[in-house]
Amino acid sequence: MNHTETLPPGGVQSEAKPAKAKGSAKHPWQSFKKWSHVTPEQWNDWQWQYHHLVTTPEELIELFPEFEGEVEEIRSTLGKYKFASTPYYLSLINPKNPEDPIKLQAIPSRLEMNVERGVDLRDPLSEDRDMPVPGLVHRYPDRVLFLITEICTVYCRFCTRRRVILEKESHIERQIDTNIDYIRKHPEIHDVIISGGDALVVGESLLERVLKGLRAIPHVYVIRIGSRIPPVCPMRITESLVSMLKKYQPLYFMTHFNHPYEITPDSKKACALLVDNGIPVLNQTVLLRKINSCPFIMREMCYELIRMRVKPYYLYQCDLSEGISHFRTPVSKGIEIMESLRGHISGLAIPTYVIDAPGGGGKVPVGPTYLISEGDHKVVVRNYAGKLSVYTEPQETDCSCSTTDEMKSKLGASPQGAGPLGGVA
Ligand code: SF4
Repeated sequence: MNHTETLPPGGVQSEAKPAKAKGSAKHPWQSFKKWSHVTPEQWNDWQWQYHHLVTTPEELIELFPEFEGEVEEIRSTLGKYKFASTPYYLSLINPKNPEDPIKLQAIPSRLEMNVERGVDLRDPLSEDRDMPVPGLVHRYPDRVLFLITEICTVYCRFCTRRRVILEKESHIERQIDTNIDYIRKHPEIHDVIISGGDALVVGESLLERVLKGLRAIPHVYVIRIGSRIPPVCPMRITESLVSMLKKYQPLYFMTHFNHPYEITPDSKKACALLVDNGIPVLNQTVLLRKINSCPFIMREMCYELIRMRVKPYYLYQCDLSEGISHFRTPVSKGIEIMESLRGHISGLAIPTYVIDAPGGGGKVPVGPTYLISEGDHKVVVRNYAGKLSVYTEPQETDCSCSTTDEMKSKLGASPQGAGPLGGVA
């Protein structure tokens, strides 16, 4: 890996200058002694955030004396797993709540050391098996996942890819040119998801090299960037970053909010900057026990997301990765949440609930059943309020279309291929 193009967590620290006294008015972070002298210019500079990541239990206790009793527990995980968080994300914690949703996502727990034999898997989605070249997952025919880094600004305790992201000894072998070359040689690939780690921790020159390489491939229709930056380090979304990104349209931004408390004036500003510059933002949430495993929390978050023009896209059932069993909910909880959303809030605000099938089976949508029965040209459906209705189907069942063959050849589909779209489903 070329470390000069990836910013080091907790790297060279720039000296914070004392804030100017402004009467009694304090910025929220200044109520922490450690950051009392940090100016708004520094706090709102993503490089300052990145160079001041909190990475040790000692720093945590300095910030939150309330966590003193948990130090040994935190320390017990650090031999195996990484810990780091931006000051910004930690500043959102309410230390008076022992189950604060930001704390549970950011602070290590001894429960991570539990491995449920026969259930937990190191690589639940079999990504390693589906890597034709290191750092590139090619599972679905038309899409690839391009992993450009194993570094993040916050190491989320529930991370699915923790075998390479959180484990101290692991890393992703980055072969940018080989990966671009693979995509160039595979005309069936139309959609590339750049992720990691967090795709936005790499330097802008490296990110632009990847984007430019992909955009030069005519069969790559869509590029997506996967990043948790908006909730955890929103100041990273700068005018300069967005002006670079918008050169490579069509480009979609896939972010990851898990709780309404992550939606702040700063994260709203970050998302607005992307959307105002023509970059659609979609959200993927992981269903996490004790964090967002509640219809009211999910409803509030989905509303807040569409209010800031971010489309709720997927709600993921928590994967079977090792060390995260304490975050998993029963599937029935996810179905209950979906039931509480459909019909009760705008359809625009409703994500698709999926289980990413273990073993690389891909995303399987699950949810409440609304089709109650199918009969002779009639189906019975129920609505969100439980009211049953009969829908009468037509007698004519021939649904063939005159333009199917034209579309098939556009899609490059083989009639012998699997699935209803002849191999491109
Ligand atoms: S930002 Fe994403 S990749 Fe990084 S630790 Fe969090 S969930 Fe994992």
